[in-house]
Amino acid sequence: MAQALLQPARGTHDLIGEEYRRHLHVIETARRVATLYGFEEWATPIFEDTRVFARGLGDTSDVVSKEMYSFEDRGGESITLRPENTAGVCRALVSNGLTQANLPRKVFYAGPMFRYERPQKGRYRQFHQIGIEVLGAAEPLADAEVIACGWHIQQELGIDEGTVLEINTLGDAASRDAYRAALIAYFTAHKDQLSEDSQARLEKNPLRIVDSKDPRDKALVAEAPTIHDHLTPEAAEFYAAVKSYLTIFGVPFRENPRIVRGLDYYSHTAFEFVTDRLGAQGTVMGGGRYNGLVEEMGGPPTPSVGWAAGVERLSLLLEAAELTPEAPRPVAIIPAGGDTAEAAALSVLQALRERGVVAEIAYKGNLKRRMERANRIKAGAAVILGEAEIAAGTATVRNLDAGTQETVPLEELIRALAATGASESAMQALMAEMLEAEEDAGDEGDEER
Ligand code: ATP
Ligand code: MG
Repeated sequence: MAQALLQPARGTHDLIGEEYRRHLHVIETARRVATLYGFEEWATPIFEDTRVFARGLGDTSDVVSKEMYSFEDRGGESITLRPENTAGVCRALVSNGLTQANLPRKVFYAGPMFRYERPQKGRYRQFHQIGIEVLGAAEPLADAEVIACGWHIQQELGIDEGTVLEINTLGDAASRDAYRAALIAYFTAHKDQLSEDSQARLEKNPLRIVDSKDPRDKALVAEAPTIHDHLTPEAAEFYAAVKSYLTIFGVPFRENPRIVRGLDYYSHTAFEFVTDRLGAQGTVMGGGRYNGLVEEMGGPPTPSVGWAAGVERLSLLLEAAELTPEAPRPVAIIPAGGDTAEAAALSVLQALRERGVVAEIAYKGNLKRRMERANRIKAGAAVILGEAEIAAGTATVRNLDAGTQETVPLEELIRALAATGASESAMQALMAEMLEAEEDAGDEGDEER
């Protein structure tokens, strides 16, 4: 009997073809922009001691209380697949003894995260995040720089028109204590209208209720007091400074006093980039300031700020904006003759690849079959090598879009391929070679002097 077809586990997905091209484009763009802002990439383990998250994220957060992939390994240790990476980065800072020298540390990361959630569009059990953290900076300029970097990445991706930056402050500890008391008083007066979850959270962490997605809670939250009536002068000043730096950086924002973020570790700045283009999954990037997390990991007080963004959600925005990057178009190398032609074709193939041109050869087939395959792999140009051409040290370059062709000396192959306009890698190779020739000429000039 035939075996049942295996499917990917619920909430996971394969990244193939244009979907993975979008995905990689998000990560590569983020990596490039983060480098411009002075961030260095770290890779921390995908699984950690469960305490890293239980301590770091706070046990009233949804992530810790409901969404973690935790299991006991064969040695009896409690292990958790990371649901986010901020706790791991802070743990790494402490474990590697980096809490004293060279602060602030500016860290970029990208990789898979795991949360046991109900899968839907833009929400998966294995998903991917990009993120940045500035570790060891108490200044509001760090908050603004982190936000500007996130905004810049969205601009580079071309999706910034579809998202809005919403910011808020959670104040300092004194502001939050006062706010907590006000929230407890308000929600207690309406306790019977709250969801069961929120009734349970009321005494322990009423801030969490403000972040609730339950419609019963949302109605109450709309009328709840905001933190702005409870900010200490220092906290208000910090918030004002962040906003003024954002204005200098030219980053547009909207204030939203309902943003509190889902994890327990935040203080001062909290922000989200939201969109109305992804249905219920409206947040693409979220973050803020967290001042106690490194201490939770056993390090010294290390004020920090950062954000994380869902790669799948950014990728869906790229798709919606029809901004899927094209796969590079190869040049098809086509021998037309016997073994001599085949050997010459393989040499040309290798020489082109060494010079940076994306080139392909079919493993077998006659001229017609090879031309068919060239079309199937969307080659923009073909290099045809017949016996006579090889003898003369030439090749025929065929523009597969226009159907035109010319026979050129092998030394001019890259120029001719670039001229078809159908091979971007050939154009880049030509430009690089021209630059190099210019530099060589410059060097010679220097020597004469
Ligand atoms: P949400 O409110 O959508 O559940 P969150 O507040 O739990 O998001 P964060 O922990 O702040 O999300 O993670 C940052 C970003 O990671 C989110 O804005 C989102 O883009 C992405 N993200 C979070 N959970 C998932 C998931 N299960 N699948 C896909 N992307 C996710
Ligand atoms: Mg969530």
